[in-house]
Amino acid sequence: MKKIALLGATGSIGTSTVDVVLAHPELFSIVSLTFHENVEQGTALIKLLKPQYVGVGTEAIKEQLAELFPDICFGVGETGLVEAATLKEAEVVLTAVTGSVGLLPTMAAIEAGKDIALANKETLVMAGKWVMEKAKKHNVQILPVDSEHSAIFQCLQGEKQNLKELVITASGGSFRDLSREELKTVTLAQALKHPNWSMGKKITIDSSTMMNKGLEVIEAHWLFGTDYDKIKVVLHKESIVHSMIVLKDGAYLAQLGPSDMREPIQYALTYPKRLPIKNEKVFDLTEIAKLHFEKMNFERFPMLALAYTVGRKGGAYPTVYNAANEIAANAFIEGKISYLQIEQLVKRAVEQYNETTEVTFEEVLIIDKKTRAIVEGWIKKEGRI
Ligand code: NDP
Ligand code: MG
Repeated sequence: MKKIALLGATGSIGTSTVDVVLAHPELFSIVSLTFHENVEQGTALIKLLKPQYVGVGTEAIKEQLAELFPDICFGVGETGLVEAATLKEAEVVLTAVTGSVGLLPTMAAIEAGKDIALANKETLVMAGKWVMEKAKKHNVQILPVDSEHSAIFQCLQGEKQNLKELVITASGGSFRDLSREELKTVTLAQALKHPNWSMGKKITIDSSTMMNKGLEVIEAHWLFGTDYDKIKVVLHKESIVHSMIVLKDGAYLAQLGPSDMREPIQYALTYPKRLPIKNEKVFDLTEIAKLHFEKMNFERFPMLALAYTVGRKGGAYPTVYNAANEIAANAFIEGKISYLQIEQLVKRAVEQYNETTEVTFEEVLIIDKKTRAIVEGWIKKEGRI
């Protein structure tokens, strides 16, 4: 029986994880979980999964639920996330919260010797060097949940010493067929219509700006220890090939499958074993018939180009890139800025950051906070343009 701490249980990845767990109740149990403010779904999950510990977003939610579930321990905010992630009984922590709130509980879980099934890519972008160092020191595994990284991880089994380069596929997101001129007038509702995947709001916006792929390039650099020169991105509209590796003899290994996050989630939880997954729809390549691959246009998608720039610079540059995007993407979701302002704000934040790349973990946390305040200040002052 694998005992799981699930951070972000009410989200898109959280819900798929619960599906995986419930499909194999003899193999998995969720001993702690967290959610932020979705009390209705959170309450249903508590009844269903009977965790020992629950982390929630506010004191008010804690009080409300503590009355309903007197046998369960509750915690709030960052403390709640850290306590859920470090619960004595938990063996693996599945990090499915959105954004940089995932970092501190992940670090605490590593220190407590828990393996990490990582969906929360922002954690690795913000502080990949420190997360990976700590994981090595405490001898814990960081198992990828992101579909591209899971695909690469699957292909790499037995082939690490032969690796030449990684090829990450990108669906292109909601606006892949629009010109930059056409992006000026797009709306939130249009941005949230991803052609292939059903996901949380922030990652869906990130997919459309290609920030998501930028974050994934940096995530891959840390997960697999691969140089940026050896991480390629190709546009692949069908999202059937989840990613590939190229070996030194020129062989390509690819992992293919339907757009269903249960597969990478389950693999992270059962690795190196595999279990069946019940699929209502048959995956039939003859029905799909054709797969397309195109070169990425870095002028059309400047946020992807910027990911390579900040990644190569290192230090806290990726932290700034990620923090600015979190503020900007959420401001767009809240209607405070227009779509193209997301890119403008991220670019400006990276340009204004002009410090040494020799930073400590503590400094990274400060730079993250400072960047958020700067970008929030710009949005407040200039508003929607
Ligand atoms: P969702 O927005 O669907 O879910 C986010 C979860 O985090 C919810 O449980 C939410 O609680 C909780 N949460 C939100 N804000 C906070 C906060 N401030 N403090 C604590 N908890 C919070 O996101 P996704 O499931 O789509 O994505 C989660 C992570 O996984 C992201 O990092 C994303 O990039 C990554 N990922 C997602 C994929 C997908 O298919 N969705 C694919 C690959 C990676 P509540 O519901 O109560 O607000
Ligand atoms: Mg992905």
